Amino acid sequence: MAFALNLYPVTYIARYNPETEKWDEEWLESDKVTYDELMAMSEADRKAVLDKRNQMGLPSVSYTSQYAYSCFEGMKGFPTKDGGVAIFRPEENGKRFNNSMKGLYCPAFPVDQYVKASVEFVKRNAALGYVPKYNPDWEKTDYADADSIYMRPFMNSEGAIGVGCSKQPYVVICATTVSAYFKKGLDGAVITNRIRATPHGTGYIKCASNYVISALAKKEAEQAGFVECVYLDAVHHKYFQEGSSCNIFFVLKDKTIVTPELGDTILPGITRKSVIALAKEKGYKVEERPVSVKEVQKKAVECFVTGTAAGISPMSSITDLNGKKTVFGEGFGPVAKELQHELKGRQYGSLEDPNHWNTVVIPGNK
Ligand code: PMP
Repeated sequence: MAFALNLYPVTYIARYNPETEKWDEEWLESDKVTYDELMAMSEADRKAVLDKRNQMGLPSVSYTSQYAYSCFEGMKGFPTKDGGVAIFRPEENGKRFNNSMKGLYCPAFPVDQYVKASVEFVKRNAALGYVPKYNPDWEKTDYADADSIYMRPFMNSEGAIGVGCSKQPYVVICATTVSAYFKKGLDGAVITNRIRATPHGTGYIKCASNYVISALAKKEAEQAGFVECVYLDAVHHKYFQEGSSCNIFFVLKDKTIVTPELGDTILPGITRKSVIALAKEKGYKVEERPVSVKEVQKKAVECFVTGTAAGISPMSSITDLNGKKTVFGEGFGPVAKELQHELKGRQYGSLEDPNHWNTVVIPGNK
């Protein structure tokens, strides 16, 4: 199973204090079990440790548990070639998190505090051995199976009942090890007739409630043998929106790269933003605009989805609502491959980082 929960021992919790209008910070260290010790444990002992780490003392009955009133981030830390550790564009995640909280009408967590806490979070966990070691073999496959730290900051409301907006939220940062995002053995994307986000809704923020539809549509796609589902727009049912939890790109025959433009129904992905910047640096023409199913069926030669967890993942085909399959071919197409090489190379430090996207947490020594 992709994406298992193997929580790190140190968790950050901040609580909004309406009187001081500040966030009171706390570090929870559930145990001092190092990564190597955890790995050496029997399965039952390991499970007991991991279950304890998941007890964060958050209220059971809350706007979050009752109404999916919550928002979260997904952010990665990478072991770099020089022996250090860096977080990729944390200020971008911090801004999106802040925006999600504003969208939920609750006190918003400051961006600088988000970045500072994230850096300290990685350091504290690294001190217990929770930091992947750089392996030069990863370079051969452009880091296809490389390790990273998956950080999951989230907001949780205070204890409450009755529909309402949080006044005293918690912000938690936790992390887990990650493995491949997409299930092996499944293939291609399928357009779903479910609607992820509607105009004037919450599709532009990363709030928890958006993901219920994604869970359903993804399950349906997987049951039908597809690896991913893709949404169309809520109004015309003609234009691509995004994948279950990733943005979508197409390469047209003339090498133009197209991706749906942002609006109130699409999550502004940080990988999306980075891929657009990299593609432009490489000289590609990139268009952010409505992309119809018809256009893709006629003109697209590559399709890939992007996300923190998904990276750049090629889709071998897209099947429309009538069962018509457009085949792009197995594995990475040339454009996706070039972008993947550049993105991963910068994240893992085997390439220069001219835009200063990496925030160094632990400096390397080479
Ligand atoms: N769309 C949705 C709905 C997502 O959940 C994600 C993952 N955060 C993305 C797009 C990709 O965003 P990012 O590149 O910032 O991970």
